[in-house]
Amino acid sequence: MHTHILAIDQGTTSTRAIAFDLSFAPKAVAQIELTQHFPKPGWVEHDPAEIWAATVQVCREVIDKVGGPQSIACIGVTNQRETTVVWDRRTGEAVHKAIVWQDRRTSDVCAALKAQGHEAMVQAKTGLLLDPYFSGTKIAAILDATGVRDDADKRANVVFGTIDSFLIWNLTGGKVHATDATNASRTLLFALKPPAWSDDLVALLRVPTSMLPEVKPSAGLFGETDPALFGRAIPITGVAGDQQAALVGHGCLSPGMAKATYGTGCFLVMNAGSEPPVSKNRLLATVGYQIGAETTYALEGSIFSAGSTIQWLKEGLHLINASRESEAMAAALKDNGGVYLVPAFAGLGAPQWNAEARGAIVGLTRDSTAAHVVRAGVEAIAYQTRDLLDALVADGAPRPTTLKVDGGVTANGWAMQFLADICDAPVERPAFQEVTALGAARLAAFGAGLIPSLDARLPGAPAVRWTPSMAAPERERLLAGWRAAVRGVLAHAEG
Ligand code: ADP
Repeated sequence: MHTHILAIDQGTTSTRAIAFDLSFAPKAVAQIELTQHFPKPGWVEHDPAEIWAATVQVCREVIDKVGGPQSIACIGVTNQRETTVVWDRRTGEAVHKAIVWQDRRTSDVCAALKAQGHEAMVQAKTGLLLDPYFSGTKIAAILDATGVRDDADKRANVVFGTIDSFLIWNLTGGKVHATDATNASRTLLFALKPPAWSDDLVALLRVPTSMLPEVKPSAGLFGETDPALFGRAIPITGVAGDQQAALVGHGCLSPGMAKATYGTGCFLVMNAGSEPPVSKNRLLATVGYQIGAETTYALEGSIFSAGSTIQWLKEGLHLINASRESEAMAAALKDNGGVYLVPAFAGLGAPQWNAEARGAIVGLTRDSTAAHVVRAGVEAIAYQTRDLLDALVADGAPRPTTLKVDGGVTANGWAMQFLADICDAPVERPAFQEVTALGAARLAAFGAGLIPSLDARLPGAPAVRWTPSMAAPERERLLAGWRAAVRGVLAHAEG
């Protein structure tokens, strides 16, 4: 009976379910890839019906593998953040495809709001920037594109939710329209303190208040699944956006603890404690997790290209045949030969936030080889992380004593050692890499009363730890080369 916790991880590229036992050991996994729709350049959409069907399927598979619905004590949900769904509450059907976080169609709206001078207010209230990335401007885009504004505004038939909210609605058979504070804090509509929907933001972004889900703490009862779905009503007791769930999964539960997830891009998130941080370096302030009435805030910075730089070395330049070859190639060189690669393929994220910047390889000589370019791509991941850490420290955060990492790139031991050297901090990778799902499972277990605190039964020693061993002058020399390369890229963007 009730021997497992089911975590649903609805990501940008796939939908996954993982069943954990009560010691947080993973026992079963199922995964389905998600179709990406690109209707126009810069537009990215998902089909909410496909997401829901895949969610049911992966849950059923995993529930079967661990002995049926009686084995599941509770469900935790974690999800791609900011992606926006608008659906009709009478039918449960989406009125438009989901607009994905990567979608840039509301750039003009954001630029206009910035030109009108709203960004300072938006940042002060929400901790975010006026960028199409967040949900807020995507909602009006759907209302205006589909002509359902009146249905939303006058008749309250049409509602909004991020993916967690859409899944909770469907899992509960349309009974519960709710989200958690971490997901709400990515919408541009949510004030950080006190944590609540902001009337000013809702008015500014033209979102009818009746569309908004109820915001709940990240752990606690959201509702029960419709018994027709899995054969039993199972409580949903934990919800958080993917990066925040990873923060919890890594056990970064005290102020100053930080994690970095290296997939396609990199997300660095630091626990900032009980007061919302104010960034002067264009980092994002966000809700880390909310437990009861207690909100823990976080500071976040992102790098657009991390693993995707390695993919480009493979698919764009054909310098390697597989991502893992980057490790041996970088390691075989005695130094970087003065070559730097600034992977600003899609602009630069924090702390530069320059959308016009484009990439560059600098420092080439007649002695430079393919290996130097590959190494420069791997090194860039560490330099960009260091830039984020410096921005965090400039914003008043402590320098983290260790950096907890996960994601595909962390398979590259050379890259992780170089990261430790450049950041001058130990880097730790846990044995179990699915920390996002693990975080959702922990929140759900805590919300269901199965563990007394979020950090109960945390795993002991990390699987791998890389300790910095580079001498300070060498680190400074490399950082000077990198910073000069970034200055060059920014100068080029100025034209
Ligand atoms: P996502 O969740 O964003 O799809 P993953 O966490 O699965 O990403 O990581 C995939 C990324 O990791 C790819 O971009 C790939 O190039 C990169 N990657 C995988 N193995 C290595 C390696 N050994 N060295 C460097 N990069 C790697």
